[in-house]
Amino acid sequence: MSGYRLLENASLEGRNTFRVAARASLLADVYHTDALSELLAYPAVQHGPLLLLGAGSNIVFVDEVPGVILSLAMHDIRILVDHDHHAIVRAEAGVLWNDLVHWTLGHRLLGLENLVLIPGTVGAAPIQNIGAYGVEVGEFIEVVEAFDRQTLRACRLNRADCAFGYRDSLFKREPDRWIITAVEFHLPRQRELMIDYAGVPEELAAMGADVPRAAQVAEAIARLRSRKLPNPVVLGNAGSFFKNPVLALNDAEALADQWPGLPVFGASDDTLRKVSAAWLIEQCGLRGYRCGDAAVSEQHALVLVNHGCASGRHVLALAQQVALRVFEHFGVALEPEPRIVGATWQPVTA
Ligand SMILES: Cc1cc2nc3c(=O)[nH]c(=O)nc-3n(C[C@H](O)[C@H](O)[C@H](O)COP(=O)(O)OP(=O)(O)OC[C@H]3O[C@@H](n4cnc5c(N)ncnc54)[C@H](O)[C@@H]3O)c2cc1C
Repeated sequence: MSGYRLLENASLEGRNTFRVAARASLLADVYHTDALSELLAYPAVQHGPLLLLGAGSNIVFVDEVPGVILSLAMHDIRILVDHDHHAIVRAEAGVLWNDLVHWTLGHRLLGLENLVLIPGTVGAAPIQNIGAYGVEVGEFIEVVEAFDRQTLRACRLNRADCAFGYRDSLFKREPDRWIITAVEFHLPRQRELMIDYAGVPEELAAMGADVPRAAQVAEAIARLRSRKLPNPVVLGNAGSFFKNPVLALNDAEALADQWPGLPVFGASDDTLRKVSAAWLIEQCGLRGYRCGDAAVSEQHALVLVNHGCASGRHVLALAQQVALRVFEHFGVALEPEPRIVGATWQPVTA
């Protein structure tokens, strides 16, 4: 076995959670890291357009994909360093994120429990520094192992190198440069669990977990997520379509004075605040708004869904309409969270 499989004119419909139709000229599923080095030596792969694809849960295909798509399917997980207080766990890029969360809980390692049930792969987790229920993955990342297409070398980037931010990282800012092959996590054996987040204490109480363990926190969050978000297996979607806008403190306070009820959250530093994109969309009366088969979810205003035959172009057109309506109403510009492939997002401005 060569360690990879090539597919020409490959359908991507089953490889994105929006389930929009698209095709790739060439798709390579890579099963071994050695095979990756071999593939990267081909001139078409080395110099042509290349797109990394994980589980396709944060991507919108608007057009056919030129060049090569690489899908890394290496899926080893192991403990590299085992101390009394913490362990370093290495997971390869193709491991499903939720499998890793449960693996760490099974090994009595803490930190990832609030990130349960986020779709996608380990290799994509650092890209937008996945986060949920008050936790971001970046705080537990020790090293990202990546191939640098600029220098043609394998690198080890530590947490500071990765420049993690809110739904952001070095890798997101340089999408054509990095191929993440594995991630190493520093996970404590003891830590205060993060349970002071919307709905979590109530769910734990309903479960009878008075002094909750990490596995129970994960269970509570999984239950909340299943109720709140449309399941992409049933209804195509990519989770939150827009980031929560980050505003200067004064602007956020002025907006909150003008629009009582607007949820405002802390941001990376004290001079900034995040405001709820879901609330802004909802106030524009857009929850459930439908444009053909592309729609704003009835369940959650931040999620755009595919009711069946929407194309990536329909989804993008809907997203642009939502952003425009929010801008007209509140003067706040929404930015998409997923990667848009084959078109460029048009920022709304005055
Ligand atoms: C129902 C639902 C709920 C969600 N909830 C959350 C949430 O709570 N928090 C959150 O942060 N996200 C959430 N997401 C978004 C998504 O799950 C994450 O962004 C996830 O990390 C994407 O993983 P993926 O493997 O599907 O990546 P893909 O969608 O395949 O790719 C995403 C980006 O990563 C790049 N990429 C993928 N693999 C690699 C690699 N090995 N090397 C370099 N680049 C790579 C791609 O080129 C692309 O730019 C949700 C999505 C859905 C559908």
